[in-house]
Amino acid sequence: MIPLMLIILVVAFVGKNQASCCSLCSKFQRLIPNNNKANLPIKIKGKIILNRKLGRPANKLSEDESEEEEKVFTINTCHAKGEKNTLKEVIKLEGYKETKSSGEGNLLWYYSALREIDLKILSIRQCMFNRYPRASTICRKRQFHILLKKYQRYFPEDYDFIPRTYCLPDEYKSFKKRFEKKNDSFFLAKPSKGKGGDGIFFINKSTAISKEDMKQNEYIAQEYIKNPLLIDKKKFDFRLYLLIKGVDTMKAYIAFEGLARFCTEDYTKPKKSKKEEGEDDAPLYKHLTNFSLNKKNENYVCNNDFENNENEGNKRLLSTIFRHLENEGVDVDEIKDDIRDICSKLVLALQPFLVNTFHTDMGVGEETNQNCFHIFGLDILLDENYKSWVMEINCFPSFNYFFDKTVMDSETGKSKSIKIVSDLDKYLKPIVVREAITIVRDGKIPKDSVFDQVFPPQDYPEDYRDFTIFNEIRLLFEILAGFRKPDILTLAQFQKICYFPGMKTETLGKPEYAIIFSQFAKRGNKSFMTLDNFGNALEHLSKVLKIGKDANPRPLVRKLLKYAQSKACF
Ligand code: ADP
Repeated sequence: MIPLMLIILVVAFVGKNQASCCSLCSKFQRLIPNNNKANLPIKIKGKIILNRKLGRPANKLSEDESEEEEKVFTINTCHAKGEKNTLKEVIKLEGYKETKSSGEGNLLWYYSALREIDLKILSIRQCMFNRYPRASTICRKRQFHILLKKYQRYFPEDYDFIPRTYCLPDEYKSFKKRFEKKNDSFFLAKPSKGKGGDGIFFINKSTAISKEDMKQNEYIAQEYIKNPLLIDKKKFDFRLYLLIKGVDTMKAYIAFEGLARFCTEDYTKPKKSKKEEGEDDAPLYKHLTNFSLNKKNENYVCNNDFENNENEGNKRLLSTIFRHLENEGVDVDEIKDDIRDICSKLVLALQPFLVNTFHTDMGVGEETNQNCFHIFGLDILLDENYKSWVMEINCFPSFNYFFDKTVMDSETGKSKSIKIVSDLDKYLKPIVVREAITIVRDGKIPKDSVFDQVFPPQDYPEDYRDFTIFNEIRLLFEILAGFRKPDILTLAQFQKICYFPGMKTETLGKPEYAIIFSQFAKRGNKSFMTLDNFGNALEHLSKVLKIGKDANPRPLVRKLLKYAQSKACF
């Protein structure tokens, strides 16, 4: 009887402990490296807490297990530059390890774009890395707007979150027409590769950007949103963080914690007469919200007591603004829904490019490419009707928490630049980076995360598949191009379409396909087509063959893709 009682007691005791171990385990599960989740000891803040598999204290680890202790998730910071400090915070908080040895670690963090040498290292290593190859190309203002305009053409009501934009010099004529006709509209000229508000100005006459100027620097001209929402008479915008991960299975998440960046002068609407003269307030402290511009103004306030005094300073937390709006009776959930919707549409638009460049630069492989991720900066302006407008998508949002300040050196009497910690950035940026890493490692959002999944969209209308058309074009393009060089299509590869059922008619044969090819092939190099050219050629083919009602080549693409996928020869 007594031994039986003892057994029952021991079982109950072990069971109880195991239950608590399990709840601890699940709580800290996200700390375990992806590649060997089952067996690793868990390290939190530098201490081994539990061996997950055995559910017992780590000081009881065997020698073999102690070796595994070395496999603590490791972040390589050797290319992290100014973001090193944020990463160090994350490493400290999560109990990760840091390495600076080239190519080593579970996560290789890059501050800048991936170079050829990085691509080589990453394509042979099964590690996580925080950059899509060549992502910066699609974030340049010109390329971004060319892409988005295509979506606006097919889905005008859904892609209405971008102000009317003209890519100069190509759309110079239509811009001039609009400029002259819409007397009450104002336009900003923005250099395509500009950042931080550099080189942006109000266009006063359509001739303000000379053709010479446009040759040297590609510009976009964008209709100015004249009625921004103001707080304390100041214009502001949001910097949100959009995490995209994976390639062949892409997912995206938006962080609903970010920054609100305020102008340093009270807002006034641009005046009619100024359209002729030009807004001559240079720099544009009341119109541009960029931190790098406004910090130069003597009115700039860096609030380092943001926790007690959240409604001050030129940089505030996004949640602070949402709270302020909620107190004013604004439906913040609706604003968030709009932002989620915008994000999923943006990811849909970026997906074909990101996937195609990834396949081109790093090859195809479901295993490897699920480790790739990128945190984009998404700048959103709210107008006075609480409508969200996308200003831009930034490829390299700063995860640095220092603030450069110019001060007078009392000894030399000269000005010098010093680095000051911005408490607000120091609070925010490690949260974003830490949770983003956890999401990519574990494939799921941690509890109470600032991130929400936006792609694939959870509750999309029935016609969701319509939006995926460009990704289907990308797939067809890659099938035709072959996986060795999936970024270009030769004439012979394009002409394969001619042999697809129903694609050859009396008036449309191989020679005609050659004519279409040369008509749409890459400008400057007529021997191949890019993905973009191919999309335009399909649109043309769709019209010639009268497939579908509008310019949308959807029915044609679906038909071709179905056939191509059914044929082993492609
Ligand atoms: P940059 O890449 O140089 O920061 P943006 O396009 O993001 O250029 O513009 C900088 C800032 O100018 C934005 O954050 C916003 O405050 C303001 N801005 C830009 N475009 C518009 C617009 N169309 N309407 C109103 N404000 C704008």
